[in-house]
Amino acid sequence: MKEKKFGPVLFIPGLNKGRYPFCNSIYIESHSVLIDPASDRERLIRLKEEQGVTQVWLTHFHEDHLMHLDLFDDIPFYISEEDSVPISDINKFMDWDWFELKPDGREWWMNALEKTFNFRPRKPAGFLRGNGIFRENGVTVEVIHTPGHTPGSMSFHIKEAGVLFLGDYDLTRFGPYYGDRYSSITDTIASIERLRQIPAHIVLTGHEQGVFESPGPAIWDRYVEVISKRENKLLEFLRSPRTMRDIIDEHIVYGRPREPKSFFELGERAIMKKHLELLREKGIIINDDGLYSRK
Ligand SMILES: [Zn+2]
Repeated sequence: MKEKKFGPVLFIPGLNKGRYPFCNSIYIESHSVLIDPASDRERLIRLKEEQGVTQVWLTHFHEDHLMHLDLFDDIPFYISEEDSVPISDINKFMDWDWFELKPDGREWWMNALEKTFNFRPRKPAGFLRGNGIFRENGVTVEVIHTPGHTPGSMSFHIKEAGVLFLGDYDLTRFGPYYGDRYSSITDTIASIERLRQIPAHIVLTGHEQGVFESPGPAIWDRYVEVISKRENKLLEFLRSPRTMRDIIDEHIVYGRPREPKSFFELGERAIMKKHLELLREKGIIINDDGLYSRK
């Protein structure tokens, strides 16, 4: 993937096609703002030297969006108020993110956050708020609150350039992720529906392809329909009573066993758990002594 420029917006692709643990970054020249500094450490060092970044913003708190935030320790950073909580304290981060980790897993994850993701607790200089407007040098950036993936996920509309940056609503074939403690399937769907209404010619995302020029309805549909497909597969599987272990082994989310096993099983469990909770709330399934089944 190559860097691309859309008016004042520079798209900086992440290493390994912007796949986890990397993400795509964007740099808004008119505002000297870098968003999601986890693309490519060497490139971000150069960006800082050559362009004079004056602020760093995060779409949300996840580790694969802040990996190189440590390069910008001396520069003010901004995030939503909701997502500022896990950034302020590594224990809160773990409670929010891989909250189902067993005690030995927590130690491993804390180590990974500090070593691989250069996590340092940070206090934001201020908060990004929904409907916030930042106008600089004739360019308007509107902040859009798009909860679901995380409670404080933010998207950005760079109006005059017709550019929309979606962060982790990444339009990939994998579909949306909503496996954190405070993620929400309902909010995720509402946020995607809201984002697709915004008139932007260029849609940029945090992972993989990252650049969509006038994405048609099929791309948005495919992305949001992953959610109902997961739900339908789960409901089909629950025609017989199943344990959580059975459900994880069905690989509804990832399609097949993947390595590292513990990592993907955690994701599989977390996403399935959100579906199970929602289906229970709707009165469609029951949980009888650890066995899930349809009513
Ligand atoms: Zn994320």
